[in-house]
Amino acid sequence: MSTGPIRLSQGAHTALRPATAARITGGFWAARRRVNAEVSVPQGPDRLERAGNLANLRAAAGAAPAQSGFRGDFPFQDSDVHKWLEAASWQLADGGERPAEELARQVERLAGLVTAAQAEDGYLQTHYQLGPDARRWAEPHWGHELYCAGHLLQAAVAHHRATGADGLLDVAVRCADLVDATFGPGRNETVCGHPEIETALVELYRETGERRYLDLAGYFVDRRGQGSLGDGPADGSPGPRPGAAYWQDHIPVREATAVAGHAVRQLYLLAGAADVAAETGDAGLRDALVRLWEDMTTTKTHLTGGVGSRHELESFGDAYELPPDRAYAETCAAIAAIHFGWRMALLTGESRYSDLVERTLFNGFASGVSIDGERWLYVNPLQVRQDDDSRKDATSGRSAHRTPWFRCACCPPNVMRLLASLPHYMASGDAQGLQLHQYASGSYEAGG
Ligand SMILES: [Zn+2]
Repeated sequence: MSTGPIRLSQGAHTALRPATAARITGGFWAARRRVNAEVSVPQGPDRLERAGNLANLRAAAGAAPAQSGFRGDFPFQDSDVHKWLEAASWQLADGGERPAEELARQVERLAGLVTAAQAEDGYLQTHYQLGPDARRWAEPHWGHELYCAGHLLQAAVAHHRATGADGLLDVAVRCADLVDATFGPGRNETVCGHPEIETALVELYRETGERRYLDLAGYFVDRRGQGSLGDGPADGSPGPRPGAAYWQDHIPVREATAVAGHAVRQLYLLAGAADVAAETGDAGLRDALVRLWEDMTTTKTHLTGGVGSRHELESFGDAYELPPDRAYAETCAAIAAIHFGWRMALLTGESRYSDLVERTLFNGFASGVSIDGERWLYVNPLQVRQDDDSRKDATSGRSAHRTPWFRCACCPPNVMRLLASLPHYMASGDAQGLQLHQYASGSYEAGG
C-alpha cells in the first residue's frame, strides 16, 4: 500500500495505482528534500508559534487566558498547523538516516494541541471557537470552515499512515461526522467558499472505509455551481464583489468548459473531483476533468507551469493572458495543479499529465522556496527586474523577493508537504509493471 497522499481503494476505477513503496535517494529532488527535512520542516513549529497559530489552539482548548482572543488576520490560520502536521508526518514516513525523534516529538506536541482544541461536538476552527459561537457555519463565503476541516483530515490521514496511531485520525473522524451531520441534502445545502474538503473526504474514506465520506465529497462536488454562494458578500475590501466564478459557483463542474476564478480554489476542487471519479468510475465527471485540464494547459498555463496569472482575485485570466512580469502564479496554485495532474495521470494512465507535473515541479513550484529552505515566494513572476519593487502587490504587500513567512502563510507549509511526500508522485504500477513518471534516482515498487 502506498504511504503517500493517495491510497486508492481496492475497487478504484483508475488506469494506474501509486507505487506501493517509493524513496528518492539522489539527484536534484533528494537535495531539495534534504533541505526541506533539515531546515524548513523543523522551523515550522517556531514560525507557527510566532504567528499566533499555536496560541489560538491553546486558547480554544481553554489552556490560555480567554482575553487573548484570536490571533491572525485570516479565519483559516489553523490550516497552516494542519498542513505542517501533514508535511511532518510524510517526513516521518520517509524515514532516512537521521534520527527522527525530535520531529516525532514536535508532531505529537502539535497534534496534541489540535486534539485539545476540538470542541465536544467535533467542531474545530479556532477563529469561530474564540469568537461568537453563533457565526459557526453561517459565513460560507469567507469562513473557510470546511477548508480548515479538509486540511485537518489530510493531516490526520498522513499521521495515521506514518505512525499507525489513531489519535489524530479520531479527531478527524469526529470532525468529518459533524460535517456529514451538518451538510447534505435536506440539511445545510451550501458549499464552502474554498474547496479542499472534497479531496480530504475521499482520502478519509480510503483510510477508514466509511462510504458516507465519499458520498459527501460527491455531494459537495455536484452542489457547487448551483448558486448557493452566488456572487457572495463583499469581503470588506473596496472594489467589486468577487462574483460566482471566483469560487466556481457559476457552473457545475461537469458542465464547465473552462477553468475560472481563484486558481487554488479551482484546482483543489478539480483534484477532489478527480478523487471522486477515481472511486466511483463516474465517466461524465472524468470527461469534464479532461476538458478542464486541457483548457488550463493549452491556454492558461505559464511556461513555468505556474497558473492563475491575475493578481486581481488570485485568478485565472482569459485565454493566453499570461504576462511574464505581472504573472501572479501563486506557489499554492502550482501545488494544486500538481495535485490535480497526478490524479489525472492515475485516472487515465496518460503521460501528458505527468509531463506537466514535471515542468511545474522544476519551475513554478521550485521557485517558491529559497535554496536554503528558509524563505518563500507567494507570487512567482517569470521576470523580475533588479531592485524593482513596483511588482509588490498593493493589497497583500507580497513582494517579488522571498521572505521568511507571510501574514497569509498558505504557501510555506504547502511546499513542505509536497516536498515531504514527493516520492509518492514519482512512480505508479499496473498489471504490466512499474511506470516512472519523473526523473529521480530512487527505489520504487509496484504491485500488491
Ligand atoms: Zn499559497
